[in-house]
Amino acid sequence: MEQGKSNPGEPAGRAGSAVLKLAADKALLIALVYLLLGLLWILGSDSALNALFTDPALVARMQTWKGWFYVVLTAVLLYAVLYRLLRSEASQLLRQSRQREDLSLLNQFRESIIDNANIWINVLDAQARVTVWNKAAEQISGYRRDEVIGGDGIWTLLYPDEDYRGDIARRVRAILDDGFEVEGFETRMRCRDGECKIISWNQRRFFSDTGEIGSIAIGQDVTERKRLQLELERMAVHDPLTGLYNRREFEALAGARFAACATEGRPFSMLWIDIDGFKGVNDRFGHQVGDEVLRGVAELLRDAVGESGIAARYGGDELVAALPASGAADARALGEVVRGRVQEAGLLEACAEAGGTLTVSVGAAERDGCHADLAALASAADKAMYRAKATGRNRVCGPED
Ligand code: GH3
Ligand code: MG
Repeated sequence: MEQGKSNPGEPAGRAGSAVLKLAADKALLIALVYLLLGLLWILGSDSALNALFTDPALVARMQTWKGWFYVVLTAVLLYAVLYRLLRSEASQLLRQSRQREDLSLLNQFRESIIDNANIWINVLDAQARVTVWNKAAEQISGYRRDEVIGGDGIWTLLYPDEDYRGDIARRVRAILDDGFEVEGFETRMRCRDGECKIISWNQRRFFSDTGEIGSIAIGQDVTERKRLQLELERMAVHDPLTGLYNRREFEALAGARFAACATEGRPFSMLWIDIDGFKGVNDRFGHQVGDEVLRGVAELLRDAVGESGIAARYGGDELVAALPASGAADARALGEVVRGRVQEAGLLEACAEAGGTLTVSVGAAERDGCHADLAALASAADKAMYRAKATGRNRVCGPED
């Protein structure tokens, strides 16, 4: 945010009075020169006539001619001076009228650009009343300019929450009063059709030609971009099939909790779950059924682990869960819950030929002095799971089994 600039209306006023003073000085100079020349002519020509001619009748005639000559000469000079002045004034008037025409075209062009821009543009006056509301503002908000211009009631409709609206109003006042500028400031507004949109704003103060203060706001509808950004962020950390965390995110989240529990001297356990005979499910019923089964097991695991644990798909048909603050007994008990729920869920019931139930083998391990990090504990849980496979499947084993 930056401080604003000084009033640009003042220099124009100063320039106008300087031009007027220049014109007055010029007129005074011409009048003085005329007076001086007249005086010199009268004194000089009279003495010259008296010196050149002795005949009084001739001198009198010459006086008349001299008078005519002076009148004609000054008329010619006056014509020349006035012609020059008026011509330059006329061309100046012409130039000014062309400039006004250009300026009016420029203003029309500017207004048409503002109106047709595909970004929201609105202008506020010093009292924060709307004076410009372009087509994009109408399209995005759903409110027409004739409903908006001249008042500030639109903000109550767009920002119904009083506190939120108050925050925004304070920012706008800071822009108008103190010349602060905002760039990329995002607001969430409720449009006429009830849809919530996120608008990113650039807003700053300006001074009109007459020195009045206003603010111009340019808003970009970033709702879709934000949604995509959130979706990308979600995709980066979640497994697309099951919606559980992916392996990388699991290692980051569970690794941090592992370290924290180690520092605090609290227990930390892990479950390693592998579907029994999953290849056969794919081979007999197809991959789509296999996917459904994976999603079903993942959901059961997520529910069993709850908010306190971290469930993830490690890869293939292997799912894992980190259980911060849980010891071996709790981990085994939870492994048993998952195993039992999978067995009872009837995930393969839709496939009549399956003839059996779907089961999982579970390995459970608690962090002890041998596990330097999460990877070491994961390896212990994995080995325990293999023991469950080796000893008949559909069971929970620990390192000591
Ligand atoms: P075991 O009881 O020893 O675990 O045998 P298994 O048949 O389950 O064999 P294993 O766990 O080694 O094989 C995992 C299979 O999971 C192999 C692969 O075809 C299948 N698989 C891996 N990812 C997917 C997936 O995203 N969808 C489906 N439908 N199948 C997958
Ligand atoms: Mg398997």
